[in-house]
Amino acid sequence: MRIGDTIYLDYQATTPVDPRVFSKMAPFFAGSFGNPHSVDHCVGWRAAKAVEEAGARVAHLIGADADEIVFTSGATEANNLGLLGIGKRAVAGKRRRILVSAIEHKSLLAVGRILREQLGYCVETVPVNTWGRVDCYAFGKALGDDVLLVSIMAVNNEIGTIQDIMSISKLIRKTGAVFHCDAAQAPCAIDLKEFSQHVDLLSLSAHKMYGPQGIGALFIRRELQDRIEPLVYGGGQQRELRSGTVPVALCVGMGAAAALLESDQAERGRALVRARRDVFVRKLTSLPWPISINGPNGGIQCHPGNANVRFNGFKAHDILGILQPRLAASTGSACTSGFPEPSHVLRAIGLSGDEAESSVRFSIGAGTTDADLEEAVSLIENALTKLAAMSPVQTA
Ligand code: PMP
Repeated sequence: MRIGDTIYLDYQATTPVDPRVFSKMAPFFAGSFGNPHSVDHCVGWRAAKAVEEAGARVAHLIGADADEIVFTSGATEANNLGLLGIGKRAVAGKRRRILVSAIEHKSLLAVGRILREQLGYCVETVPVNTWGRVDCYAFGKALGDDVLLVSIMAVNNEIGTIQDIMSISKLIRKTGAVFHCDAAQAPCAIDLKEFSQHVDLLSLSAHKMYGPQGIGALFIRRELQDRIEPLVYGGGQQRELRSGTVPVALCVGMGAAAALLESDQAERGRALVRARRDVFVRKLTSLPWPISINGPNGGIQCHPGNANVRFNGFKAHDILGILQPRLAASTGSACTSGFPEPSHVLRAIGLSGDEAESSVRFSIGAGTTDADLEEAVSLIENALTKLAAMSPVQTA
């Protein structure tokens, strides 16, 4: 996929809206613009029906029911609502420990800090191996009857690690702790059909799955809904869990994107992306430079579109800078770009600060072509050659 002259290899930062999704959304910006909470007329009823159907589609993606879905502004808000919601209501209880994996998204780690600093919980980090996988043995030992909540993401946004959520869930179930899973990156990587059986809370984001930006959802298991303190108070919409007028067009878009992911084509699409990623990685690693892959490096334990590439001896910022405006990729996650510190995910899998700073995340998606990738490899090769000429420290 190209945006003008730019090859777009940053699908894990955000995906374009699928044209089929956009066509479903369009009527709700103009003709069918009703407020879904207007209970006195048919315009409102129609909007409410569209939201209800969208909720059912999102729920279906993870094997849940529509009344277990709360629409939010994105996965950041869903993570906040899930963790703070449980943490605030349980503050006087006996369970004082919260476990989160070392490679969670910043939105989750930041909530962990609030739970510790403002609510006094003991928030502990669950370590991961060099592939970013949670060590179930060590994790099992850390669990106990004093754990209130565990948060482990399904698919990592930087290195693509797919976590063994079923095994993790079995361990958590024995303790009675609440299990939250950030699945923002999961829909394009794995089938989520059975997830609602294994987790209690699950965060999604539409703009990571060919839906619109500005909307996400939190799955809240039915039995748990009265254990969540809302973040937003007001008119009591969405079963009082998240007040505010629900954005109909965005909900419809998220529902349509979820439905597409359940079509027969979805798995085929993932396999095509995976095959392209593998070719891209093979070509990159055969360039005459010291290039290696961080994290799971392909296979079934990795997001099909993810390639986190380490250009040893180079700075990722320099590479991406020199590639502008021809190629879009990122250092760490888009949400951490701009912060000078090296990626906490790469540090957690054992990379040094220098190694982390030499790593670029490329992410391939449905619109990526063979020609895009071929040209990307040659652009990267030229960039490395230029950088090496500017500073002869790098070794070929
Ligand atoms: N969690 C993960 C794993 C993500 O990749 C992202 C987006 N970078 C988020 C949460 C935040 O999602 P949103 O942009 O919808 O707030």
